Amino acid sequence: MQLSNPFVLGLLGASISAAAEPLGARTAGADTVLEWLKFGNERHAAGKPVNWHQSMERRKEVSQRPAPGAVIVSCSDSRVPPEIVFDQGFGDLHVVRVDGNVAGEKELGSIEYAVENLHTPLIVVMGHRHCGVVEAAVRGTPVRGHIASLLASLSAAVSRSRGLPGDPVDNAARANVNHQVREIQQSEPVLGPLVGMGRVKVVAAYYDPATGVVEWQPGAAASTRLLRSGM
Ligand SMILES: [Zn+2]
Repeated sequence: MQLSNPFVLGLLGASISAAAEPLGARTAGADTVLEWLKFGNERHAAGKPVNWHQSMERRKEVSQRPAPGAVIVSCSDSRVPPEIVFDQGFGDLHVVRVDGNVAGEKELGSIEYAVENLHTPLIVVMGHRHCGVVEAAVRGTPVRGHIASLLASLSAAVSRSRGLPGDPVDNAARANVNHQVREIQQSEPVLGPLVGMGRVKVVAAYYDPATGVVEWQPGAAASTRLLRSGM
């Protein structure tokens, strides 16, 4: 489907000029990329994706070197594929996926690679509703093997959200997104200083597999604002 397709124009209205820009453009800033992600998710949630950048031509275009517009730190859950959630394609997103969307040592290294070497201006930490590993952490479900290390990474968010009104798993998943955003913003020696200099922005997002809608932190413009106050 071409981006000049009248349906797409009608769906996005005046926003089409921004939405039609290639996500991996090296000159794009974090706020511009964030807008592209929002447009892409609106297409996905509406069931009207344009399958952006999934052609053989695009595959060849980025085969030598990618220029991703955003790092997406997402859960490994099969219902949360970032390229589909944001209607993007080859070379657009540098995706770091691990259950519970945690930013541990290896994940931070992967984020640093994109920010430093590929000049990616935006980092999105995306949690989701009905997250199985978060539920296990909240319930205290006995586990064996290496899953325990994942649950340990979620313990701070579980503690922080305990006692809050509402669904405890949902509360913990949201608190975890905010916690991981802070971990990235304060990470030394690479990401924290880059965030402080305004070279990269870190944004919290929360996906609902039932609706396909990504909820962004209020405004999603200032990297210090969180999905919900108090978490
Ligand atoms: Zn999950």
